Formats: sequence, structure tokens, C-alpha cells
Amino acid sequence: MKTYAPSDIRNVALVGHGGAGKTTLAESLLFRAKATSRMGHVSDQSSVLDYLPEEHKRGATVGLSLAQFEYRGKKVNLIDTPGFADFEGEKVAGMYAADCLLVVVSADSGVGVGAELAWRRARAMKRPAAIVVNGMDKEHADGMAALKSIREKFGKKATAMQIPMGNGPSFKGVVDILRDQALTFKDGESDKGPVPPEHAEAEAEAHAALMENAAESSEELLNKFFEEGELSQEELIRGLHDGILQGDLFPVFFCSALELHGISQVLDGIVDLLPSPADRPGITGEGGGPLKADPNGPLAIQVFKIAAETHVGDIFYLRNFSGTVKAGGEVYNVHRDEPEKVGQLFSAIGKARTEVPELSAGDLAVAVKLRSAHTNDTFGTKGSTFKIRPIPFPSPAIDFMVHTKKQGEEDKMGTGLARLVAEDPTLSFHYEEETHESILSGLGETHLELAVQRLHERFHVDVELASPRIAFRETIRGKAEVHARHKKQTGGRGQFADVHLRIEPLPEGQGFEFVDAIVGGVIPGRFIPAVEKGIREAMPRGAIAGYSMVDFKCTLFDGSFHAVDSSEAAFKIAGSMAYRQAAREAKPTILEPYLDVTVVIPQDYMGDVMGDVSQRRGRVQGMEADAGDQVIHAQIPAAEMQRYAMDLRSMTQGRGRFERKFSHYEELPRELQEKVIAEAKAEEEVAK
Ligand code: GDP
Repeated sequence: MKTYAPSDIRNVALVGHGGAGKTTLAESLLFRAKATSRMGHVSDQSSVLDYLPEEHKRGATVGLSLAQFEYRGKKVNLIDTPGFADFEGEKVAGMYAADCLLVVVSADSGVGVGAELAWRRARAMKRPAAIVVNGMDKEHADGMAALKSIREKFGKKATAMQIPMGNGPSFKGVVDILRDQALTFKDGESDKGPVPPEHAEAEAEAHAALMENAAESSEELLNKFFEEGELSQEELIRGLHDGILQGDLFPVFFCSALELHGISQVLDGIVDLLPSPADRPGITGEGGGPLKADPNGPLAIQVFKIAAETHVGDIFYLRNFSGTVKAGGEVYNVHRDEPEKVGQLFSAIGKARTEVPELSAGDLAVAVKLRSAHTNDTFGTKGSTFKIRPIPFPSPAIDFMVHTKKQGEEDKMGTGLARLVAEDPTLSFHYEEETHESILSGLGETHLELAVQRLHERFHVDVELASPRIAFRETIRGKAEVHARHKKQTGGRGQFADVHLRIEPLPEGQGFEFVDAIVGGVIPGRFIPAVEKGIREAMPRGAIAGYSMVDFKCTLFDGSFHAVDSSEAAFKIAGSMAYRQAAREAKPTILEPYLDVTVVIPQDYMGDVMGDVSQRRGRVQGMEADAGDQVIHAQIPAAEMQRYAMDLRSMTQGRGRFERKFSHYEELPRELQEKVIAEAKAEEEVAK
């Protein structure tokens, strides 16, 4: 493929509800543009875009995929994104790498939650968008009803470019409002003709609306429109283009991807109306910018996705915002502060790749064998400090304990997970000291199940997921003084240690303090650290339920020793005995972790979500409105949040999202303490 000027490139991401036909639409666009020799289907696994084995198994897109092709002298970079919330990270990356979105809406069900969410995000990101009503051949398709639901949900700025002629099996063509003509589908092409009389009135009305919307894009066109009552075809297209670019106007097209009807018109719409990288504002970031898409400008490339492929290794998806890099050229990874050599560069259609000589401003390409790159890194030239604003990936929302099925494969699991985490910024993995568990976190159960499957297929290690233990803690609320004596006489040398210990609470967050208040050498100095050591070693096992004891002070104030039988070991045992006995007498209690949770939901769900927060023993701390949504700030016990990602999704039909972070510890209610203690006892029994 040759190099294209930024104004000749269109970077388009397909978004919408799962099942609306995004992948099929992408396949049909590729086929119509003659980039593939046959139409790929999701159903028989001939799709060139859903090519991963995981996607064949699920019949759904799990990762973004890229298809680059030429149409009417322009280069179209199409990014297909998953609709399912568990793969939100891939969707966000695809949307950020593109300059505009194609929101796919199903002709038989109208605007689905997925399309609505994509829409809201597009608005928040200020991304220009077009809307495609797909599946016009489906039995219950109703193009005008779909348009109505689009205008209800997305507003009046959604402007029909076409009027569908017929619905379902009788979808036979479209009236092209822009050019005042009818296009009747025939053998994959379309015959042009006059607008049929039954559509004439609607067409005239729609044409006037189109012209008015186009005129509103600039003062100049608006004046012309008022003075002369109409715009030329060229002005009309320019006005539509500018309106779309400004995010004021959203053209709507109708098609059947499966039957390949109306597809050329969508392609024409992409090329004629959607913005190019040259139209978009310069890319912003830290330490420089903004940079416009200029092939001769300073180099600024973003890594927006990393994927692994068998026999190839890591594949890096790059978006060039400014400058040009040649295959084999040197770049500088600004985030890692390291030089990086770019080897071969490829243009991709799914997993089929063709080498390209360079990657120029505004364009996308795929690279392999990069040394240091992580997702979101910026490549510049040596000395460059500009870091492109990072793609705001959603943070993990659920945690699971992960362990290997076979013993001894922990290292293999660790290596595999480290790799998966480097590829996917919405996945994370850490070892939880307090509960001694390996924790895998992600966006939802399906997301984590896919990670498990990948560990099996790529790293040959089988792991299981289970609910993680909550990192409860123990503390004391009262004071106690105890006397503990460790004495053993077995044959030769015996063991003897005798201590008096006082225990009392410390303010929250103070941990542990040991005070040596021994006077007159009743316990020799060399044994005193052993007492402290005994306590410190016993602390992690708590006093009542096996959780770490925190925020207390122990004072060693008296004791005695034996000249022959006393030893450090004996005093260590006495120290731990005294601590345990004292802690049990000092009103021990269990603490539970609380999370700071921020939930963002549409207004309609306020009642349900607030009620649910209190059911989870949470407290609402504050509320605010944000861009038409409600934001709720709450503190909720971690124990009640384990399934929140899935529960919030079903409560809000996928419209809600949330962020969480650790807040503080608080006393666990009495009745729940009893349960936790009983569980700990049962576990201890099993361990015996
Ligand atoms: P995605 O999840 O949005 O990518 O949707 P897919 O492209 O995977 O399509 C989901 C299902 O809808 C598949 O079985 C497709 O064959 C079917 N489909 C997609 N487009 C059309 C269409 O235009 N007409 C009909 N009848 N079915 C379609």
C-alpha cells in the first residue's frame, strides 16, 4: 500500500450493541471495497475480523480488530470493537485510535443499550459519529421506527441521509436524500432512478431538513441559504461534513450487511462525509503538543493495543498522530525513556498482514518484535518529551482468587499472567499479603474466564478461580493484664520463661508497639527481644478468627527466669502465649475493609442503586450531576462488593459504571463477626 496524505485517510471505529451486526457490517464494507474476495460470516467462522479461536467459540468479538483498505482513492482504517461490557477496554482503545465512530443500530430492535453507551461515550470524547441502521432485511425490520428511536435517544441532530424503500424481505433500495434519487439494489450494485411518487413528499421534506442542518454548520452557508433559499450540491456536502466534524450532526444510513444492500452508500458516506485526521484538532498530552496530523511534523505515535499471536509473538497496534517513521527506523519510547527499533510495519486486514514501507501521520499500522512498548506508550524521536494523552482504560472492577490446579506450576501461572496483564490494561494481578492469595482482577466474570482460557492455551497452565477471602483484621477494644508461664521439664535441660504482659488499644493505623517496662533485671535484657518476637510472630494469626491483629500495644512489665532452663526460645513461646491470652481478654473484635465507591448512572436508576447501596451496608457520602448522569459517592464494605460489577450491570441494564478504591477499616457488625468466627473455626477443624 502506498502512503496516504492525512486528508485521504478515514479512521473509523464500529461500535454498538453486541449482535447489532458490527462485524458483519465490517466484512461487507471490506467485500464491497474489494479488499476481500469473498464475504466473511460470523456464523460459519469465515469472518476475517473475528478470527481468534476465542471469538469462534463465543460467536462474539472479544478484541478490537483492524481492517485497512482503499476505497475511491482514500484509505479506510476500520476498527471493529466488541459490544460486551467485559471487553470495554478494547472498545475504548478502538474509539481512541479512531477519528470518528460508526454507531451500528439494529433495524429490528432500535437503539440498544450498547449503542446508547457508545453514543454517550462518543459525546463525552467529542468524537464525530455516523449511525448505520443495519439488518434492514430482517423479518421484523422497521427502518423508520429505528430512525425514530435514534432521534428520541440521540436527539434531532441525527439526520437521515436516506429513506429506506421497503422493510424486511422487501427492502429493495433507498432514496438518496442528498442527491434526490432512488437507488434500487440489483445484484449487489444499485440502479439509479427518480424518486418514486410514494416517497416524493417525505423525500422533499427530508431534503429540506438536510439542507437546513448543513447550512447551520457555518455562518457563510447559513447566509447563503437565507439569501438564496438553497445550497449547491458541493456546499451541501461541505456543510454536512463540517457539521459532522463539529459533532452537531449525525448522518443516518440504512443497510443490510448480510445481503450487501446499501453497503456502497455507507462507504461513500465514510469517504465523503466523515472527517479525516487532517480535520481533527491536534493531539494533546503531556510535555508538548498539541500536534496536528502532519507527516513532516515531530513524531508522535501511540501504542493502542498489544495482542499475542502464536508463532509471531506480540503484535503492536500503532496510531501515528504526527510525523513519519520508516520500517527499520529508530524511534524513542518517551514513556520508557528508551530507544526502540521499529522493524517491519504492516497494514492489516484481520490477521492477514501486508508489509508497508512507512507509517505516516494520521495512519494506523501494526508492528512486531518491539522491545519495550506497553499499551499507551508514546514513540517520538530522541529528546522528545511529548507523551500523548493516555487512553482512559476502565480499571478492574472484580477480584478473584486464582490458583493452579497442579502444585508446582505457580511460576508458570505468574509468567503467563504477567504477560496477559502487559497486553490488557484492564486486567491486573497481585499477591495479597494479608490473605496469602493470588488475586486476578478484571472487568467481569467473562473477562477473567477468557484469561483462564488463554493461560491454558498459550501458557499451558490450568488455573481455577474462586471467591477471594476478605482481608478482615482483628483489634482490641479493652485492656488486659495477664501472666503466662512456659515451663517444660523433659529429660535433660528444661525450658522456663515467665512473663507479665499488659495489652491495650492504640489509635487506628498505629499498628503495633512493644514497651519494655522491666525493672531490676527480673527478666535479663537478652530475653526481652525474644518476647517481642513471639508476639510479632503470633500477630498475623489474630486472636479470635485468624486475621491479622492491628493497633495495639503490649507492655512487658514483670516476669521471672531460671538461670539454667531459661532461653530465648522459651521467652518467645511465653511472649506469644501471653499475647494470645491477653488479646482474648481485651475485648477483641473484627474489622472489615471499606471501599470508596463512585457509581455513575442515568437518573432513572437512582432509586434502585441507592437502595442497593444501603442493602450492602453502605453509606452514601454525596451525590452530584455530571453530563446528564448521576454520580453517587459511597462507602461500602468490601465484603459486599464482590459481585457488584455484575449486579450493577443487571440493575441498570449495563448503563451504570463504577470505580472503587480502598478506604478504611471499620468494625464488623456483631452478628457477622459470629459468622466469621464460626467459619474460621470450621476451617481450622478441616486443617486438623
Ligand atoms: P456484532 O456483535 O455487532 O459484531 O454482530 P455480528 O456481526 O456478529 O452479527 C450478529 C448476528 O447478526 C450474526 O448472526 C449475523 O449473521 C447477523 N447479522 C448481521 N448483520 C445482519 C444483517 O444485515 N441481516 C441479517 N439478517 N442478519 C445480520
